[in-house]
Amino acid sequence: MEVDCEALAAAAREAGAGQARLMDAAGLVFDPRAALKCRFGCPRYGRAWTCPPHLGLSPEQIERALAGYQRALVIVSPEAASGQRAALAVEKAAMAQGLSFALALALCVHCDPCVYPDPCPHPKLARPSLAALGLDVAATVKPLGLEVRLDPEGKLLPAWYTLVLLD
Ligand code: SF4
Repeated sequence: MEVDCEALAAAAREAGAGQARLMDAAGLVFDPRAALKCRFGCPRYGRAWTCPPHLGLSPEQIERALAGYQRALVIVSPEAASGQRAALAVEKAAMAQGLSFALALALCVHCDPCVYPDPCPHPKLARPSLAALGLDVAATVKPLGLEVRLDPEGKLLPAWYTLVLLD
């Protein structure tokens, strides 16, 4: 199916993203070490509806589902909130193009903090991050000429990556 990538990139930019790059979904890199980084050292572990261990899907289910996608759009944003907005805008635009399985992967920061264990008030906005699904973000974006850099506190610099699985 033809995808109007320029329209998707424009939707990302309108929502505050810097740039967006199309990639072959076969280039998504899984690494079981991502689960260790979620479990140990991340303040969101067990405290957010969209983070482990509350995903409600096994790693095998996730990997099998993601293997069904052919293309994805990587979105570069200045920080998490605009990254989430951009990914959701691209997901919506992709669905409007007929890509019914389009799915945004974007850390949900809509509430600060997440209200877990109370019911999520905005389930239509809630998506998991790439890392929560076991993806190695740095290895996934590197072939696109993009780089993950961290400051001494472990904060991402200067870019925040989100992604939309297209079809
Ligand atoms: S919308 Fe709010 S409550 Fe729901 S997952 Fe996102 S941060 Fe948590």
